[in-house]
Amino acid sequence: MSRSSCESLNNVLNENGETSHGGTMDSRTKKNLINDLGNENKPEGRVLVLFTGGTIGMMRNEQGALVPIANAFVKNLRKYPQLHDREYAEKRFGAMGPLVLPVTATDNRRIIYSVLEYSNLCDSCNMTMDEWIRIANDIKESYEYFDGFVILHGTDTLSYTASALSFMLEALGKVVILTGSQVPIFDTRSDGLDNFLASLVIAGNYNIPEVCVFFGTNLMRGNRTSKMSATSFEAFHSSNFPPLATANIKIEVDYRSIFRPCTLEKFYVHASLNRNVGLLRLFPSITSDLVKVFLQSPIEGVVLQSYGTGNIPTNREDIIEEFRAAAKRGVIIVNITQCANGCVSDAYEAGKLLQNAGVISGFDMTPEAALTKLAYVLSKREWDTETKRQMMQTNLRGELTAGRPPTMQDWDLVEAVARSLRLSSAAELQELGSILFPAMLNAAVIRRDIMKLESLKGYGADISQINADGRTALHIACCEGDINVVRRLLKMGANVHVKDRFDRTPLTDAIEYDHHEIIKVLLQCGAHLHGNALLIGARMCAAATAGNKKRLQSYLLSGADLSQKNASGCTPLHFAALHDHAETIEFLLDHGADPCSIDMLGQTAADLAKAVQAGNAMRLLAPFKQDDNDADDNKIVMHVNARS
Ligand code: ASP
Repeated sequence: MSRSSCESLNNVLNENGETSHGGTMDSRTKKNLINDLGNENKPEGRVLVLFTGGTIGMMRNEQGALVPIANAFVKNLRKYPQLHDREYAEKRFGAMGPLVLPVTATDNRRIIYSVLEYSNLCDSCNMTMDEWIRIANDIKESYEYFDGFVILHGTDTLSYTASALSFMLEALGKVVILTGSQVPIFDTRSDGLDNFLASLVIAGNYNIPEVCVFFGTNLMRGNRTSKMSATSFEAFHSSNFPPLATANIKIEVDYRSIFRPCTLEKFYVHASLNRNVGLLRLFPSITSDLVKVFLQSPIEGVVLQSYGTGNIPTNREDIIEEFRAAAKRGVIIVNITQCANGCVSDAYEAGKLLQNAGVISGFDMTPEAALTKLAYVLSKREWDTETKRQMMQTNLRGELTAGRPPTMQDWDLVEAVARSLRLSSAAELQELGSILFPAMLNAAVIRRDIMKLESLKGYGADISQINADGRTALHIACCEGDINVVRRLLKMGANVHVKDRFDRTPLTDAIEYDHHEIIKVLLQCGAHLHGNALLIGARMCAAATAGNKKRLQSYLLSGADLSQKNASGCTPLHFAALHDHAETIEFLLDHGADPCSIDMLGQTAADLAKAVQAGNAMRLLAPFKQDDNDADDNKIVMHVNARS
């Protein structure tokens, strides 16, 4: 995609939310996605698909050649019952609403998805850093409206995009999955269908706050992947890190290996990259002239692919001198191995020579991760050169393993229990850990025992691990109300977006227990009200009915619109007026509630107050009362009488 075509991506989803042309989704579409009432017991998972191009979406032209065809992808998806449950979708959203996956026995959520098709469907060979920035910004635009994101992408440079996005999407709290295929999705025998379906199901069902790649049967950390085969359906490997999840009959997530941002920051996009970076692969008899030219200005960062565990020829002082001189000029040179698997080390003299010349270790990073990390780190204005060198050697997004990787031995506690139960296999330990840890974490939260929380994490507990109801320690802490416990959990990597079996996030719990300080901290970390606006309206109306000003304050702090209607078109002000709660009415009016809002019967809050002769409400709402005629008044009185 060229830069100019990227700009034209600003065309938006058409108003049906069907075929789309890339760029930003219009606010009406977003609103539709959250503004409707669910009509099925199964909770829904909302996924945005960014369709950037690649083989997966290509179709055959008359000559049988594979070509991208604009605006055809979504139309075709609608024809495939595995990809679109037309009957349910039409009942729920009408004929041209978003796409809906059929439910399966194993998935918890019904997946509703929208496709944002890029205007210039792009062979990923043509991708540049501009497109990476565009994708990152598109995710930012739609972040609050979806539970997860799937990026359909050509396979050739998919690992570069995945690696770059892993750095650019800072404090990511939701899952982003890149996938593609070797054969177009609409061909009879294609890997595209499985890759796409599994990606959608994972994105809508699981909280894995990472940029991932799904291919074959594996969900992998994106910045650990490389394309290893031009023909195999298992085209991508993650040689130095196990898969985050596997999709066989069941989807099994290895929660312990998920990398979680341990910060109190909200999600944001770092939307700039330094392009003065390069990859230099060593080979026997490489000339020092070539190395010298490669390291010349304007180059600022180089990934050196050396032999084996990071070795270069010990007898090539001429090359080493070029590296030394460049490092002195401030060029950051990162040493990684040419091998697909393994890590650089200073075990050999050949490796030590590079270290002494100012070349830093890239540990076990892939070339794609090392290069895109350099582009990211070098673009950070707030970091000086020394900090940038340190950051290159620091594990920022799970892209490298420095030091001893965690092993099963770290599971002392679980092991002790396992021994007494005579369990020994890794799978059994894993299973036991997934049962024990949520219970122990919850007990520590209830006792407000921060030390215990820390030590459980040390023993290998995943701090966002869910119990049988899908609830995490953070959910419990938000009910309990100890701000210190909440802060600590967040700093330990607890995720604010996890929805339990009842579709409640930690923010929902904090609201329902009116813990205002906790609400503020959750929002600081990127939490937001989710799901159905009419249901939020209904909850606020219930609070107004009870004169519960504190609850309305909780919603206000969480970013709710106090004029939000319930399914009958009533606002909280209607109910506060009907029940004559003077303080609540004052609070609502002071905080922007719309006194002119009418319900489904055309009545304002003042009309209701008058109908039931609510004295305080009539007085407080009098200034907002519109001129009305007697006939209307009669209708209102009759209606209220009929109800009472
Ligand atoms: N050349 C194609 C691309 O990367 C290959 C693919 O999609 O698999 O876009």
